[in-house]
Amino acid sequence: MSKNILVSVAWPYANSQIHVGNITGSYLPADIFARYQRLAGNRVLMVSGSDAHGTPVTVRADAEQTTPLQVYQKYHTGFLELFLKLGLAYDLFTSTHTHNHFKVSQSIFLALLKNGYLYTERQQQWYAAAQRRFLPDRYVEGTCYICGYTNARGDQCDNCGSLLDATQLIDPRSKTDGSTPELLETEHFYLDLGKLQPEIVEFLRQRQDYWRPNVIRQSLGQILADDLHGRAITRDLDWGIPVPVEGWEGKCLYVWFEAVIGYLSAAVEWSQVAGEPDAWHDWWYEPEARAYYFIGKDNIPFHAVIWPAQLKGAGEWFGRIFEERSGTTLILPYDVPANEFMNLEGQKISGSRNWAVWGLDFLSRYDPDPLRYYLTANMPESKDTDWDWQEFFNRNNNELLATWGNLPNRVFPIAFRHWEGVVPEPGELRPEDKEILAVVDAGFQVVGEHINAVRLRAGLSEAMRLATEVNKYLDKFKPWFEIKTDRQAAAKSVYTALRAIDSLKVLLSPFLPFTSERLHTYLGYTQPLFGEQATEVIQDQLGEHTVLRYRPEKASGKWAPSQLQPGQALNQLEPLFRKLDESLVTEERERLGQ
Ligand SMILES: [Zn+2]
Repeated sequence: MSKNILVSVAWPYANSQIHVGNITGSYLPADIFARYQRLAGNRVLMVSGSDAHGTPVTVRADAEQTTPLQVYQKYHTGFLELFLKLGLAYDLFTSTHTHNHFKVSQSIFLALLKNGYLYTERQQQWYAAAQRRFLPDRYVEGTCYICGYTNARGDQCDNCGSLLDATQLIDPRSKTDGSTPELLETEHFYLDLGKLQPEIVEFLRQRQDYWRPNVIRQSLGQILADDLHGRAITRDLDWGIPVPVEGWEGKCLYVWFEAVIGYLSAAVEWSQVAGEPDAWHDWWYEPEARAYYFIGKDNIPFHAVIWPAQLKGAGEWFGRIFEERSGTTLILPYDVPANEFMNLEGQKISGSRNWAVWGLDFLSRYDPDPLRYYLTANMPESKDTDWDWQEFFNRNNNELLATWGNLPNRVFPIAFRHWEGVVPEPGELRPEDKEILAVVDAGFQVVGEHINAVRLRAGLSEAMRLATEVNKYLDKFKPWFEIKTDRQAAAKSVYTALRAIDSLKVLLSPFLPFTSERLHTYLGYTQPLFGEQATEVIQDQLGEHTVLRYRPEKASGKWAPSQLQPGQALNQLEPLFRKLDESLVTEERERLGQ
């Protein structure tokens, strides 16, 4: 039975480039999972976009003396380029700066208001008289009231690490013009998490047996240790989504509140772009649909507690307000398989110190599949891991190339030299031929179960183990010798190995889509394994924005053992992977932190 699976991927903040830690933290695991589910015949909708709003974008715009819109567009364009090159097959990668997202977010807000889960409260905030605006916490600097450090930020002190209450800063000053702000009263909407707590606890208890321990610890564990409190969900800021209530002009929905709504709004936008405006209902209203959220561990509370609270709190009113539909509620997360962090050469990745391997920079020198391989083999699924340049080179040369990349090289040339490049007719298979095929075919069950449970390292490791088994089979029969004495025996070996390789190509394709697609062509297939991905420009009331969209129409791949037929014409094999020159390790290490 085909299932509807929503693959929700973390929204990158449009104020910085993406590094390998971000890729292995959420984007790559989501893509591997989605590619597998599509091959397995499920209906997948994989969505995300650029997080365009909030003070990190406006602060960067002020620093670069440009507009928030231009900052967001610049980084968004970089994300699209990276995801295309890396083969991340988003059904839709959009942005939060779209008319559709504004409308969906405001509908969630109004539904929460209608259901009594929002309240207002007055609070003190720094106001810059010269700029006639309230200053977000990040716009105020001053002396830390805990340690006395004179350059503390409003939200945090970089010296002692304390989270600060901006209103208590000593000698405050505006970050933009250095003027002294004054404390004035302002009013904000709060999400009443305390009132929603019983339902959130129940939601988490239903999932605690299969969620990752760290995710349960940071959600259910936290709530049981310390009750939930209301959180402000509006800000005095003009870059963002207006609060849809009269008298609240000049205030915006807080970025953490609206960005998570993007998972819903992107599904709605995808339906519109695909010309089936109601298609998103299958992933958002169907109780049987499963929603997975691929995020890093720093985002667990937002996805495992606050976002479910928003969905639960919006209830049936969302449908009524958004599309005059009653009796339906939005589905809650099925799983939030958050990853830990990846460090770099033993230190925490830091963009500001340039202690990072940036995705686009890396792909200017290396191919995408070796990156995907290394990041999966080293994925921080249960604990922090480390990017090590020497290890990247080792794994590329000694595993990816030696075990898998060379395998087709061991049989394609024989098929071309002795059978004119067609798959030989094997006759009756020997017991050992049948056995190796059975071993590889069993991988569809085992690797599939690993990926379905988001154990991607285990899935990749099992697929590579099977490639090793096929190498052993060839070591034993040596068709390059068999051909000299027994052409029929060699035909059995070559046929069996090609068929095993054909299966391995599928087993590895969620991890290594580019090389699997090429190998698929060398094996003589004319229909591609996967669909196509391209950018499209969308017009709306806010202007235009560019999206990435995956088109599955031409995809022919199936998560099933090879049915390779004798007589199928092969194409000339090109090397799948390059051997990397290990003297470059030093060069790469010297690049870091420069
Ligand atoms: Zn301090």
